[in-house]
Amino acid sequence: MQAPSVGGVMLPRGNGETIRLSRGASLTDFAEKINANPASLVAVMMNLGEMVTATQSVSDETLQLLAEEMNYNVQIVSPEEEDRELLESFDIEFGEDQGSEEDLVVRPPVVTVMGHVDHGKTRLLDAIRKTNVVAGEAGGITQHIGAYQVTTEVNGEERAITFIDTPGHEAFTAMRARGAKSTDIAILVVAANDGVMPQTVEALNHAKAADVPIVVAVNKIDVEGADPTKVRGQLTEYGLVAEEYGGDTMFVDISAKQGLNIDSLLEAVILTADATLDLRANPKQAAQGIAIESRLDRGRGAVATVLVQRGTLRVGDTMVVGDAYGRVRAMLDDSGKNVTEAGPSMPVQVLGLTNVPGAGDNFIVVDEDRTARQIAEKRAARERNAAFAKRARRVSLEDLDKVLKAGEVQQLNLIIKGDASGSVEALESSLLQLDVGEEVDIRVLHRGVGAVTESDIDLAMGSDAIVIGFNVRAAGRAQQMAEREGVDVRYYSVIYQAIEEIEAALKGMLKPEYEEVELGTAEIREIFKSSKLGNIAGVVIRSGEVRRNAKARLIRDGKVVAENLTIDGLRRFKDDVTEIREGFEGGINLGNFNDIKVGDIIATYELREKPRV
Ligand code: GDP
Repeated sequence: MQAPSVGGVMLPRGNGETIRLSRGASLTDFAEKINANPASLVAVMMNLGEMVTATQSVSDETLQLLAEEMNYNVQIVSPEEEDRELLESFDIEFGEDQGSEEDLVVRPPVVTVMGHVDHGKTRLLDAIRKTNVVAGEAGGITQHIGAYQVTTEVNGEERAITFIDTPGHEAFTAMRARGAKSTDIAILVVAANDGVMPQTVEALNHAKAADVPIVVAVNKIDVEGADPTKVRGQLTEYGLVAEEYGGDTMFVDISAKQGLNIDSLLEAVILTADATLDLRANPKQAAQGIAIESRLDRGRGAVATVLVQRGTLRVGDTMVVGDAYGRVRAMLDDSGKNVTEAGPSMPVQVLGLTNVPGAGDNFIVVDEDRTARQIAEKRAARERNAAFAKRARRVSLEDLDKVLKAGEVQQLNLIIKGDASGSVEALESSLLQLDVGEEVDIRVLHRGVGAVTESDIDLAMGSDAIVIGFNVRAAGRAQQMAEREGVDVRYYSVIYQAIEEIEAALKGMLKPEYEEVELGTAEIREIFKSSKLGNIAGVVIRSGEVRRNAKARLIRDGKVVAENLTIDGLRRFKDDVTEIREGFEGGINLGNFNDIKVGDIIATYELREKPRV
């Protein structure tokens, strides 16, 4: 069969071989796999009616289409698969309990509270926590670590429940998007005085999509006009039928404010778990789980809350969480107490990690520090590559010229690092809301919790980005690297200050500010008349140096008498020169300008773009 040719370039057609590409790969990645020129693949796509650039990340469908045209079989590998393969190469399996049936013991359900804004999610999480404070217990200061565990008596048995205490489905979905399953049961909070609202439906759909059973908490029954029956009716339309109506969803009427029926709600969670889920785990294996929340603490370094899903995590264990790793130096529970071990469904705050993992990152305990480090490094490298790939279009120098001439969009690329995920997100969203006109676009290429690292500088170099450190500094050699490579790293500790400065920088980008820098002055001693060039000033350089093509003004008796002149010609004796320094004599021709007198001063200057500080 004839190979397709584009513009006379022969393309390497395949014979149905399989090539593997990461999800979101670009035509350049594709070209690399089959040893072709990326530009020729761009042309192939154009023939197929799709305009894509070589470096832009494309959809699964586009990759499939291209593969078909080129006679390859493409296998698209998701990030989760890639990670699974990485762990497999170390003989580690994530997600399955080891051992046999006998090794499995019942574990507490993990619950997320979801629902429409203002329906009482936060209040409910507080109320549940309060019912469980063991009175007078030493060291029992409640701490927000991102999750907590409570116990409740069901059928004469003490049963534990773990609550993820970031309410709302955003965290839930963000984790799920990363392939992490954190939640066993969702409590859907619906205010009885307000009924089913848009976010109620949204939350419900998220839970259903994740195949998570729902317990409905009909809240605010203390409020006048509360109508719990109406809520039941409304939810029937979405497939949640209350038990008392013959369905299989438990509805509990509560008041988070008055602490009413909280026990019944907890009981409903346990009963639902027992009826629909088989929540068991092996506590004896090496611990595995996921990170729920993390931040950088000034005194203690990286602090991460992890949820143990199987196995038992112990102080001294070597763990890897996303691209962070380390030996567990200490563990704290949700009351701030030191604990030495944590079994299945237990949330603990872990100290001792090298850096801050992301929410939803999985964690595993491994035998050797070296393994942990290698896995973490491989993941970091992959993240970096993915970030590079995500980079908008790569504007080369010649492109940039064209883009600017065409007056197209200019883009300010940012990398944001901060001490907590909340502040990073807040800063990012405020920056993205900055309105600086049509011409400039802000793009956040990468964001994360932790110090500014060499890999951030790497990314900034490759994409002309500015790095923002919010309450963090550069780590290791990152600062030197930034200085060497001319990467702009800015540190802030107040959000509005960061926003103000970026806004100012953006406005500067729209209209560069220039400042005048004086170069040198020349005093006119004599005037020569040339038939060809007009008047030529015979000068002595009084200060600095005078350069050809520099801007100039003419000063007579201390007053500027002419502006916007140019040093058109510059001579020493008979030679054209580019500059004459202080103390030397020479001849200056100011082009068409001839109105000069002996004693006048020619002051030269240059316009320099003002550095933004
Ligand atoms: P969220 O946005 O879902 O987290 O809602 P909040 O927990 O912040 O609650 C929103 C408002 O409703 C707050 O003013 C709460 O005090 C109030 N609230 C929450 N639960 C109840 C309740 O059971 N009864 C009454 N009367 N008010 C409640």
